[in-house]
Amino acid sequence: MMKKLLFGCLASLSFLSAMAQVKSPEQFLGYALGERFTPHHKVMDYYEHVASETGIVLQNYGQTYEMRPLVLAYVSTSENLKNLEQIRNNNLKRAGLQQGNPEGKEVAVVWLSYNVHGNESVSTEASMQTIYELLTDPAKKVWLENTLVIIDPCINPDGRERYVQWYNRVANQAYNPNPDALEHHEPWPGGRANHYLFDLNRDWAWQTQVESQQRLKEYNRWLPQVHVDFHEQGVDNPYYFAPAAEPLHEQITPWQREFQVTIGKNHAKYFDKEGWLYFTGEVFDLLYPSYGDTYPMYNGSIGMTYEQGGSGRAGLGIITELGDTLSLKDRIAHHYTTGISTVEISAQHAKRLLSEYQQFFKNSSSSPKGKYKSYVIKAENGSDKLKELTTWLDQLGIQYGQAAAGKSAKGFSYQSGGEESFTLSTRDVVINAYQPKSVLVQVLFEPKTQLADSLTYDITAWAVPYAQGLQAYALSEKIGTKAYEAPKVETLDSIQAAYAYVLNWQHHADARFLAELLQMGMIVRYASEPFSLDGRTFGRGSLVITRRGNESFGLKWFALVQETAKKHGRILYAAQTGFVDSGKDFGSESVRIIQAPKVALLAGDGTSSLSFGETWYYFEQELGYTVTVIDTDDFNRVNLSTYDVLILPDGYYGSFANENQLKSLSAWVQAGGKLILIDNALSAFAGKEGFDLSSYQDEEEKKLLEKKEKSYAEQNRLRVYANRERDGIKDFVGGGIFKLRMDNTHPLAFGYSSSYFTLKTNSDRYAYLNDGWNVGTFANAKANVSGFVGARVEERLNNTLVFGVQEKGRGQVIYLGDNPLFRAFWKNGRLLMDNALFFVGQ
Ligand SMILES: [Zn+2]
Repeated sequence: MMKKLLFGCLASLSFLSAMAQVKSPEQFLGYALGERFTPHHKVMDYYEHVASETGIVLQNYGQTYEMRPLVLAYVSTSENLKNLEQIRNNNLKRAGLQQGNPEGKEVAVVWLSYNVHGNESVSTEASMQTIYELLTDPAKKVWLENTLVIIDPCINPDGRERYVQWYNRVANQAYNPNPDALEHHEPWPGGRANHYLFDLNRDWAWQTQVESQQRLKEYNRWLPQVHVDFHEQGVDNPYYFAPAAEPLHEQITPWQREFQVTIGKNHAKYFDKEGWLYFTGEVFDLLYPSYGDTYPMYNGSIGMTYEQGGSGRAGLGIITELGDTLSLKDRIAHHYTTGISTVEISAQHAKRLLSEYQQFFKNSSSSPKGKYKSYVIKAENGSDKLKELTTWLDQLGIQYGQAAAGKSAKGFSYQSGGEESFTLSTRDVVINAYQPKSVLVQVLFEPKTQLADSLTYDITAWAVPYAQGLQAYALSEKIGTKAYEAPKVETLDSIQAAYAYVLNWQHHADARFLAELLQMGMIVRYASEPFSLDGRTFGRGSLVITRRGNESFGLKWFALVQETAKKHGRILYAAQTGFVDSGKDFGSESVRIIQAPKVALLAGDGTSSLSFGETWYYFEQELGYTVTVIDTDDFNRVNLSTYDVLILPDGYYGSFANENQLKSLSAWVQAGGKLILIDNALSAFAGKEGFDLSSYQDEEEKKLLEKKEKSYAEQNRLRVYANRERDGIKDFVGGGIFKLRMDNTHPLAFGYSSSYFTLKTNSDRYAYLNDGWNVGTFANAKANVSGFVGARVEERLNNTLVFGVQEKGRGQVIYLGDNPLFRAFWKNGRLLMDNALFFVGQ
């Protein structure tokens, strides 16, 4: 059991006498660090041992999806630990998140996060040495006089255990440094990601995974001055530490840049002495806001990534390209050194760290930097979208309100992409930049990412109104606000009998409700045409739950439907007749029965573990609908005819999609199957017999584009060597946002408007389907609204397909050229998957 966080109940032993009792990791574990990988429960045991012998505070802050504990260790002098609550309050006062002035001693907070990527497994081992030395070496202990070190020994226990258990199972008795050996080749999906195979170092801002949610709650209670995220990179790379590489977001302050250099120089001192290689200022930039370095940066901290060479390939030892053996012991020594050096330099500069931190938040609240001072989210987005937005803002600790007064206003419209006048209503959500977290707000809501440089590590666009499909405005004036009041959701109070219950189809939450009804065995219909009834209008996709067909539920059916609606926050309309005012009556064949589909999802070798994980997460955590996960290795043993839907996530299907496989899939679709292809899964089907997908419209278009390519290549002959990296990205899409034209009369686009903002992470090009439905298309050469897109990409994408449906025999092929479930933060994409599952082909 983990000790509870009890600030008042610290060990009464004096700090020094306790030291005699605390064991080193080697004494405790029975082997020296680096001799084997330590399983998570043993790591927890060691931390408990340290806590019980020294009086440091251990806090169990939650658990993972696989129910492993998440823990923080608070390391400082016993005097500081007695005043933990005061230190914490002081920090929040400096940030302007609590009233009053800081009192008592000035203590800087340094937060060390280990092993966010599970198979970068050195980090947790290094953390044990770090905590031991900090508490036992008198030369280091003095730093704790003015510094509180918060250690998270393992952010991602599920991923780390996946790696460690596998490695301990397959490793040779004496490790084999030969890179060919099995112990250097992790099987799919590897240990990097968490249970749902999410990259937790992309989830800080989006808060989709339980590990991130529980950790950020604690992080926000402290908001440290320094945060380090320990990582590993390729085996042959020298160590990387701060200062970071360009592009650095323009919001990052001169002080944050300066102190990164100060820290880097302190590390260099130790690395130089040992003759260890390192690099700084390259590769690892500070832009995408959801990393463990940028997110703290945008929250007033000095956020940093440290990268050791190694990762899941290195095992206990591996021969590098230089012919040296890189051992786990080396890797521990390096991460230990930078961790300790970070504490040292932070302690030396604690006073300045605290004053600059306070200044950061003062500036944020009084004179926010960016162009836009208020963001207005229209009430017309509806209660579902507003609830998701405000829940997320709460998680991040961002303040918001409602417009104090209605008036006419002017601002940048995210939807139209230009300045517009609009009517500000007192029901609109307003997020002002004048608040402690203004930097975070401006980075997350900026319509166009401010890119100082286009060579970056991750996606270059994320503006929240596009991701969440919000009608929103960015204003250069500050809008006065009042306290936020969530819109009232009026559910039916008493049970109302009905001929049918009706629900407009607008949001993924409607699909969650539908999923539950279908799994109860209820008959549910959907309207393929809009209709009106009793003066109300209902759009395409509206659910019609008729009494007819559900007689087997008896009289309790009325209550069952309404209770389920209430559970999902749905407002049903109790229709007393099926005779509509306009449109089709409920008995019409255009009001179709939704058959509960049996869904199979492909996983394993060849599939992208991230895309598979996002889809798996969508079914289990977002939709609540049964999915059968099938491994690519077992696929040919499965009787596909027992499934209605097969989903191929993003992946590399070269060997899977061989001629025989395509033939049998084609026959299965012909007989009524629904095949859903995501992202690069499309490429395996393009140009193949039976599939209407191709890269070019016809020979003519192909020739034209190839001719252009040729002329680029010719121009490129005189390219300058020094520009080679930059030239290379002309064909590259760095995760950009594009506006698509949507045919929202097609079931795949029900519930959307006539446009949709897609996050494009590939530069794949597909011609319009000749014979199918081109539902989401690039109909406009200026479709890119934010993010970096290579100079040649936009022209190639003009007039091409992104989302489409091919009807084939009794079945369908659904092409989703962009992943609508990307990192689960592109929330507006879920409805596409909902529609594909429940409406298309029904
Ligand atoms: Zn990493």
